Amino acid sequence: MKLATKQAKSILTPSKLPGADFVVNPYSGCAFGCVYCYAEFTRKFTGHLDDEWGKYVDAKINTPEVFEKEIANLTKKVIKKNEFKTGNRPVIFFGSVTDPYQGVEAKYELTKKCLEIVAKSDIKNEIEISLLTKSPLVTRDIEILKQIPNLEVGMTISSIDDNISRIFECYAPPSSLRILALKKLNEAGIKTYAFVGPLLPHFVANEGSLRKLFREIKESGTKKVWAEHINLTGSKMDRLIDLVGDQLTEEELKLFKESQTDEYKMKLSNMILGIVKELGLELVGGKVIDHIKLSK
Ligand code: SF4
Repeated sequence: MKLATKQAKSILTPSKLPGADFVVNPYSGCAFGCVYCYAEFTRKFTGHLDDEWGKYVDAKINTPEVFEKEIANLTKKVIKKNEFKTGNRPVIFFGSVTDPYQGVEAKYELTKKCLEIVAKSDIKNEIEISLLTKSPLVTRDIEILKQIPNLEVGMTISSIDDNISRIFECYAPPSSLRILALKKLNEAGIKTYAFVGPLLPHFVANEGSLRKLFREIKESGTKKVWAEHINLTGSKMDRLIDLVGDQLTEEELKLFKESQTDEYKMKLSNMILGIVKELGLELVGGKVIDHIKLSK
């Protein structure tokens, strides 16, 4: 793992992502190294074309200082003019192309320091903070998170089987620990959601394991779920097969190849809709919702 520090010119970046007006990424690269990660494209823009995704991280060491200035500017320029798209308040999303609570955060505390800045400022009443992670390290900051009124933590959980997580999310904390982290956040009164994505193709052949995943989410106290189909367009399918193909059965490989068809996606979407209804969970976003709307 190559770990370096660098200075960022800007941290608060306007975003086209659904549900986010701005994104904050305190790190370049991500040590969790998920094989399906769409953020791998950022290697091109960060001087890491020759580095393997998951094998480098740059900590943007001046993140808190830059963030503090930019957020003050946001108050003056943007909020006053109501120039945001998602609702009454601009949503600032931490972790669009990195995990804000990956291992190095324990050392540098860049995400934590940004949250402290928000918690100490009146701006906390004028913005919404959304964090997405795969790491239980987020629970370190519970006392700070509790001080920010409009805040939500999303935990990505793509499988309930730690062995499957290990194949696809090589260095990320096991799913079982993520469920425990959700439970801890919920017990502390933090708003949470589970990001079930990408939906791994073995679920189509095993509805029981999909139901178990959603049931564990429910038992953690989380009620909202965002579900997303796997995107293996372009060279992503070949890349994934190169990386983990030898660990998959023939049946699993076949399912991966079928996973980009509408028929497959509709089948999985309907399966999820049924489970969510049965368990009384709320499906709040993601491509699964798009498919369900299409099928009506
Ligand atoms: S945790 Fe997120 S950003 Fe990091 S490698 Fe996995 S999918 Fe990519």
